[in-house]
Amino acid sequence: MWDCLLVSGSIVGVAAVGDRLLEIVKDPPWERALCDSCTHGLVALLSWLALILRTGRCQGGGWPYVPWLEVLLCGILGSAIDIDHFIAARSFDLKLALHLNHRPPLHSTGLCCLLAAFPFLLSWIFRCDWLFRFGWLWWVAFSSHHLRDGTRRGLWLLPNWSTPPLPRPLYLAALAALPHITWSVMKLTQTGFNRQEGFLPLRLEYII
Ligand SMILES: [Zn+2]
Repeated sequence: MWDCLLVSGSIVGVAAVGDRLLEIVKDPPWERALCDSCTHGLVALLSWLALILRTGRCQGGGWPYVPWLEVLLCGILGSAIDIDHFIAARSFDLKLALHLNHRPPLHSTGLCCLLAAFPFLLSWIFRCDWLFRFGWLWWVAFSSHHLRDGTRRGLWLLPNWSTPPLPRPLYLAALAALPHITWSVMKLTQTGFNRQEGFLPLRLEYII
C-alpha cells in the first residue's frame, strides 16, 4: 500500500511543481508549452500507475507486475490532448494555437465522456474486457488533463456551460483521488479489472 500512497503523493507533487514552473517560465512560449505538456503527461502516467498499484495482483511482496506500456500510453494520451489546440488553429504556429478565442473540442469534458462511452459500449456488446480497460485509461488520461486546466477556465461540461475555475486545493485533492475513485468503480463493476496483462498485447519485457 505504501507504494500506492507514494505514487499518489507524487501526482500532487508533480502537479504543484509543474504549476509553479508555469508561473516562472513565461518566455519563450515553446518552453512554457513543453513544461505544461510534460506535467500533463507525468500526472496522467502516475495516475494510471497509482490505479494499477491499487489492484490486488500488484500488492504483496516484491516488485509488482506493472504493464508499463499501458502506463506510458496513459501519459502520452494525457499530454496529447493539447494537440487539439493546433487542430482548432489549423496551424502548427504555437502562438496561434495558444491564443484561440474558443476552447478546442478535446477540452470538453462532456465530449470526452461521450468518447469514453464508445469503448464501454463496444466492450459491453462484444464482451471484450480489454476495451473496458482502454475506456478507463482514456477516462483517467483526459480527466487528469481537464482537472489541471480547470484551475484556469473551469470544467467545460456542456456545450454552453462550464464550471467556475477550480480552487487549487480542490483540484489537487481531485487529482490525488482520481485513480482511487476510478479503481473503486472498476472493481465494483468488474470492468477491465481482472486483466492481468493490461489491455495492450505487448509486454515491455518482451521488447527490451
Ligand atoms: Zn489542455
